[in-house]
Amino acid sequence: MKTFDIPVRCSCASVRGVLRAVSPSRVVRAVCYCDDCQAFAHHLGQADTVLDNYGGTAIFQVSPGHLTITEGAQHLACVRLGDRNLLRWYAACCGTPVGNTPGSHKFHFLGVIHACLDLDALDVPVHKALGPVRSRAFRKFALGDRTITNALPGSIWPFVFGGLRRMLRGRLTGAYRSSPFFDDAGAPVSAPHRLTPEDRSRLPPYASA
Ligand SMILES: [Zn+2]
Ligand SMILES: [Zn+2]
Repeated sequence: MKTFDIPVRCSCASVRGVLRAVSPSRVVRAVCYCDDCQAFAHHLGQADTVLDNYGGTAIFQVSPGHLTITEGAQHLACVRLGDRNLLRWYAACCGTPVGNTPGSHKFHFLGVIHACLDLDALDVPVHKALGPVRSRAFRKFALGDRTITNALPGSIWPFVFGGLRRMLRGRLTGAYRSSPFFDDAGAPVSAPHRLTPEDRSRLPPYASA
């Protein structure tokens, strides 16, 4: 099976890393239109670079153990939109989003946000390394003309089943202990910041529910 190493870099280059041994048949490449993903991009001030014309975030699912942070790990920070919501990781130096994980390291999956990929340093076209978009999630939150987004191919299920498969495999093999986002005791490497009402007041109305 052909695999690729994909360089990761925040926009100010303080955080660098690599996603190792990614194969297009294993990753689930997706676009997520959910209001939480939109809120996260706006909270970071990155909506222009992260969201597509319909409010979608380009994301792909891997196991967290594929990601090694080689520089600037101290800049990793995370927010969560509610007590049970995903941890949304970003590089605090410049606000580049990195990816989403469950709140517990025992649930071993990571949605990597394309904005942190160093595509200039990738020596193949991105679709070779990641495959085609196989999943589109939460279209009911898409912005603009729904007849366009509803006609795009891909359902939520590859994303859901991919997450379940990764969580199960992570538990069975013990791989869940290997993640750049959690320490050896299973605590997040940076304390999650729960969005405050004031944070939310700065979001656009459609993303602040
Ligand atoms: Zn940075
Ligand atoms: Zn989402």
